[in-house]
Amino acid sequence: MNLLSALKNNGYRITGSRKMICELLETNLHFHFNVQQLHQIINEKSKSKVDRTTIYRTLEALEELGLLQHSHIPHKSAIYFLNDNDQNVHVICETCDKIVDISNDSINSINSILQNDTKFNLINNNFVYIGKCSECN
Ligand SMILES: [Zn+2]
Repeated sequence: MNLLSALKNNGYRITGSRKMICELLETNLHFHFNVQQLHQIINEKSKSKVDRTTIYRTLEALEELGLLQHSHIPHKSAIYFLNDNDQNVHVICETCDKIVDISNDSINSINSILQNDTKFNLINNNFVYIGKCSECN
């Protein structure tokens, strides 16, 4: 997935900060992060400071192009992740914040149960499950 050329091809202006954000996302595969973590990583790597608005705008642009997704976590910052393998449902440990992807097979089974119960055809499952992982239990 070449995020930078996708932005370029869709008429977005390419800046040094955007380039850095895209490179970071591409090299970390299906990495989950919130804006604060990304901001911190970028500013550790970069000599010139990148402000949070720039990060938000870049993430927004990537989401508009369908390359990135985010999920809301109750009482916490949203997490962002690349839309690379349709893996968009996660379970998060409320104690240590560990994030685990839920397999598409499991999601399909859950969705078919929900569709059966509710008679909804499409269910948006851009959400997270909260729990306690085996180490924190
Ligand atoms: Zn945990």
